[in-house]
Amino acid sequence: MSEAPTLVKCLVWDLDNTLWRGTLLEDSGVAVPDEVRRTIVELDARGVLQAVASKNDHDHAWQRLEALGLAEYFVLPQIGWHAKSESVRVIADQLNFAKKTIAFIDDQPAERAEVAYHHPEVRCYDAECAAELTTLPEFSPAVVTVDAARRRSMYQAGFRRTAERARFAGPDEEFLRSLDLVMEIQRADDADLSRVEELTLRTSQMNATGVHYSDADLRALIADPEHEVLVVTLADRFGPHGAVGVLLLRYHDRVWHLKLLATSCRVVSFGAGAVLLDWLIGEAGAAGVHLAADFRPTDRNRMMEIAYRFAGFTDEPCDCLTGLGTTDAGTGVERRHLVAGPRAVSRTVHVTAPALGAAGGARG
Ligand SMILES: [Zn+2]
Repeated sequence: MSEAPTLVKCLVWDLDNTLWRGTLLEDSGVAVPDEVRRTIVELDARGVLQAVASKNDHDHAWQRLEALGLAEYFVLPQIGWHAKSESVRVIADQLNFAKKTIAFIDDQPAERAEVAYHHPEVRCYDAECAAELTTLPEFSPAVVTVDAARRRSMYQAGFRRTAERARFAGPDEEFLRSLDLVMEIQRADDADLSRVEELTLRTSQMNATGVHYSDADLRALIADPEHEVLVVTLADRFGPHGAVGVLLLRYHDRVWHLKLLATSCRVVSFGAGAVLLDWLIGEAGAAGVHLAADFRPTDRNRMMEIAYRFAGFTDEPCDCLTGLGTTDAGTGVERRHLVAGPRAVSRTVHVTAPALGAAGGARG
């Protein structure tokens, strides 16, 4: 059996005689074949980002893409007179993607050879393959998550946000407040599971225990009234950040046990971890219970350790912890504790969330 190929995360398109028929300099009315348009739309729906590397006048080519109704599908268009290998490098760097996840399609063998020479890991395709790309395994993710389908708009929003931040002269907190950040905390349902699993796998820097929960584990916990599986999404005036965090909580009479907290590295600068902990502490305070949190120090999650300490969690013993059982010997998991109380509302992030505990209705 052959191994599954590395998925392509970004496809870079040549324009003349690849994306459209003909050469823009000779024919301003170049048209896009239906099968190419279908490929672009389908790859976009699968979460494959698409960019442009074309030797053309930038404004002229971009206007043509807009007129064709295709401009919105592309991130980081590189249209000018530089080498295609340089365009591919810029795109890979800006996206922070490994070269082996980048693909390039061009009708000119010399252009493909030039890219392949400088970036041997980039997969190059002849323009004749455009219609068949969606049938290839490297362009066919097994699962298309909610976030994959809108990955392109999340990246476009990210580039606009970054540009705005670079222009902003005031203090950080003022910039954050100008973003109109909204954090939505929801009970996970089956459709969220792939996002939750993805987060627990990808968030090594902000994962409190480094424990990985499988799809089946999470499905069972969602159905269990003693547990809460919560998924956190973030959005601002530039657009969605997608799913950025997951919490796994177990209710006990006197204490709520936070078994897993993981947040995406992408939102560390927004203080998402602290906002989430503050919200949870406020909920526990309102329910009159203590909080216990599992934590396993790794060489990558020091940021999370700081977030717990900053929120007020300590190593002090408390009677409430006796009911939780011991942490498994040898796993390195430590237990932190906090007497919950009311918390100040975040000045930069508006939080919407379900009521937890007895206030949550059937749960308690
Ligand atoms: Zn306690």
